[in-house]
Amino acid sequence: MKKIENLECKNLIGEEVILFGFVDSVRDHGKIIFFDLRDRSGIVQIVVDQTSKDFELAKKIKSEFVLKIKGKVRERPPHLINPDLETGKVEVVADSIEILSQAEVLPFDVSTTGYEIDEALRLKYRYLDLRRRRLQKNLIKRHKVLLFFRNYLSSRGFIEIETPILTKSTPEGARDFLVPSRLFPGKFYALPQSPQQYKQLLMVAGFERYFQIARCLRDEDPRGDRQPEFTQLDMEMSYVTRDDVLDFIEEMFIEMVETLYPEKKITYKPFPRISYEEAIRIYGSDKPDLRKDPNNPNELAFAFIIDFPMFEWKETENRWDAVHHPFTQPKLPDGRKDKEELLRALETSPEILLSEQYDFVCNGYEIGGGSIRTTDPEILIKVFETMGNKREDIIKKFGHLLQAFSFGVPPHGGIAPGIDRIMMILENEPNIREVIAFPKTGEGRDLMMEIPSEVEEEQLKELKIKVEKEEN
Ligand code: ASP
Repeated sequence: MKKIENLECKNLIGEEVILFGFVDSVRDHGKIIFFDLRDRSGIVQIVVDQTSKDFELAKKIKSEFVLKIKGKVRERPPHLINPDLETGKVEVVADSIEILSQAEVLPFDVSTTGYEIDEALRLKYRYLDLRRRRLQKNLIKRHKVLLFFRNYLSSRGFIEIETPILTKSTPEGARDFLVPSRLFPGKFYALPQSPQQYKQLLMVAGFERYFQIARCLRDEDPRGDRQPEFTQLDMEMSYVTRDDVLDFIEEMFIEMVETLYPEKKITYKPFPRISYEEAIRIYGSDKPDLRKDPNNPNELAFAFIIDFPMFEWKETENRWDAVHHPFTQPKLPDGRKDKEELLRALETSPEILLSEQYDFVCNGYEIGGGSIRTTDPEILIKVFETMGNKREDIIKKFGHLLQAFSFGVPPHGGIAPGIDRIMMILENEPNIREVIAFPKTGEGRDLMMEIPSEVEEEQLKELKIKVEKEEN
């Protein structure tokens, strides 16, 4: 006989069942013992009385023990129905009980939402924290959302392609995490801030439509609700205009919400497309909260922000930096396509240039960004120069991409919605850690594994790395 899910019991009155799960709670009335047995599907009440051959064993059972129960489902008498439980009209009379694992007393209660518990303690025992219903639901929902995107994109001709984790620095505005090479001492890989260059190279390779559920790694200073690694639904398409990309994303998100979150209301369809200038002027933000009623947890006000400036002045570094990233196509403020004039403006007045960047926003959060890319090597080199790079450095860092573009390159663009933020909004959670299985703290520490951690002297020797001890 196979494992029956606890929730199925409600439709199995009179049947013999085998159940597996954790003990959620125990109520010992002396001659009769009740437990709530919890599995992934939910809770069902188990009754053990003196007629059971395992009655004595049942007396030893405590919360969070793992059990196998054989028994018979029966209807509860009307006055004992528990309306708070989905299986509240039935209970299972245990005939035999097997203790599969005992459990120490847990460091915290897993039957509540968990918001009331110190987060550091929750993260230290994350595998227990994840037993709580709210987090189980969040991760199961996340799985469904990712599966939806995978199926949606596959059915529309997108190919899922993995790109390297050990790679070369790609500027996305953060610091790189570096990995030392043992075989080439003194040389380093960088962990990808995004698959940006690889996905563009896949367009050069002729794949036309790519996606990947991609992990991005950015060594940023602790800043609010950030994680050093996060997940993007990374996409790139050939032969598209900005509006093709935005139309596609809009349709995909509407269908995802209608399929998986039918209780949610999308405020504006189609999603408004607001210029950066207008967003700042009217809302004072490039990620405006356009909800009609911000207290309504089921409202989703999606919008696109377009026509960003290409560059912003970086005071600390005394140079221009790309607002999105340097691969974004710059454009003249009036939209004219005049290459000579564009090159001139890049040299003399970068501040006037707009770009083909678009941001995807929802309820006051940026949930994704993308752009149509520069495929003309001459313009790309000029953009890098405007950002303060010397020609020989540009060739050293990006020569592969520039060369690739010299062999025939389809016009292309893409976008990368951030899955953690999207799940946070959909699940009405206060931060992204609540929708990530094993998140790090704001300072990038994993309190369960205790990382970052020191490594063996031997390992450092192999890598020819000497660690300078911090002086006190
Ligand atoms: N790589 C970009 C990012 O991470 C997204 C894109 O331009 O497609 O923001």
